[in-house]
Amino acid sequence: MVRVRFAPSPTGQLHVGALRTALFNWLFARHNRGSLVLRIEDTDVSRSSEEMTESILEALQWVGLNWDEGPIYQSQRFDIYRQAARQLVSLGQAYYCFCTPEEIEKRRLETISSGQHWKYDRHCLHLSDQEKNERLEKGLPAAIRFLMPEGVTEFDDLIHGHIAVENKNLEDFVLLRSDGFPTYHLSVVVDDIDAGITHVIRGDDHISNTPKQILLYRAFQKEIPQFAHLPLILGPDRKKLSKRHGHTAVLSFRDQGYLPLVFFNFVAQLSWSPGKEERIYRREEMIEAFSLEHISKGSPIFDLNKLQWLNSRLINEMPVPELIRELRPWLEKKGLWSETFLAEKKDWLERVVVLVRPRSRTLVELADMLAPFISDQVDYDPEAVRKHLLDSCLEELLAKLKEDFKQLETFAAPGLEQVLRARAEKEGIKAAVFIHALRVLLLGRAVGPGIFEVLEMMGKEKTLARLSNLAEARKMIKRTGEVRNG
Ligand code: GLU
Repeated sequence: MVRVRFAPSPTGQLHVGALRTALFNWLFARHNRGSLVLRIEDTDVSRSSEEMTESILEALQWVGLNWDEGPIYQSQRFDIYRQAARQLVSLGQAYYCFCTPEEIEKRRLETISSGQHWKYDRHCLHLSDQEKNERLEKGLPAAIRFLMPEGVTEFDDLIHGHIAVENKNLEDFVLLRSDGFPTYHLSVVVDDIDAGITHVIRGDDHISNTPKQILLYRAFQKEIPQFAHLPLILGPDRKKLSKRHGHTAVLSFRDQGYLPLVFFNFVAQLSWSPGKEERIYRREEMIEAFSLEHISKGSPIFDLNKLQWLNSRLINEMPVPELIRELRPWLEKKGLWSETFLAEKKDWLERVVVLVRPRSRTLVELADMLAPFISDQVDYDPEAVRKHLLDSCLEELLAKLKEDFKQLETFAAPGLEQVLRARAEKEGIKAAVFIHALRVLLLGRAVGPGIFEVLEMMGKEKTLARLSNLAEARKMIKRTGEVRNG
């Protein structure tokens, strides 16, 4: 039975790299009908916070990742780690170390200055039992160090292949610090043993930790899990993905209006591809297709354009009622949502969404495009006003067009187009003058869907009201005296 774990440290937001680790563990567990254990690695009490834990859980849930066991909090297991370290001492696999940081630093500098490589010099391994017991009885601060055996430690990484490290290059690393806190190696191995983890899937920044952890499994006489280390994610400049490349926190992508399924696809497709087509795969399809063997060794590049492309693709492909459900929080935020509104105008809203979604890359953009249809207010973009609404003839022209529109009994795109073109011809102007002006007056912006569909969806009442908005829109222009004489 496959048992995997995701073990974030709550010292910061969940970022893209950690999410990919979580995602591959989840896919692997689901594919194999195994279990995913969630463990919060909060042993660094000063840097960990509950708030961060909450936000990590929120991010996992947003993407649609669930877990079968946990969260297990390492901070609630300190006694278990202490006991495990003492167990290794009694097994002769570890020993007490009384060296202070100052003493170690002094010896380290001496070693380095004589041109040698430093690793812990086993000073305390050579203490007699009597010396050791006296110090313990006196209550001197004591760390516990692992006794590094001789030989070579090897493993077959499921992604990187065979890896071998000579133990002489490793030192007697600390398991339990003198303040009683466990180090990462000890807590991670003790917990993975307790949870019966069969596969450790994590970022390849942990490759160098793996030999030490394998040696710990051996020291505890426990079965060693299989390891799969995921390649580092790079930014477009081929440097390690970081804040320098913009947002990397998972929740910030939610806040920018990306769809959870898109983000799931995008992150899963960093290092793996569920099929030959470039498209959005359903979660079930990915579970079905997933295998660790198909994860590529090379570093994937985080490409924001691809994310945007996938997002607009799903926005345009998904069933409209579902898209409206995703949009709801965004409309709520703008004060544009109410149950009664939806109950009364469901069909209309669906049609407006279909009209505006081809131009939306994110839910934020989509909500912005919808706002002027739903709201009585329009936010005028000063640039658009400057470009299309400053001609001094417009007042008169729009008043005439308004009269024409008033006469219409059915307010539908073909009739509206006819009337508008006829009016333009009569006035000796290009239809585009009306079209551009209307788009800005109705939507607040210079770009948008075909104007006649916009007018139809906006409806007669709102259209007529907005045709009288010229003065209000022009207020957006701070400088006065800009109205041109046409
Ligand atoms: N807490 C570690 C991290 O966030 C993960 C440790 C592990 O997966 O072994 O990098």
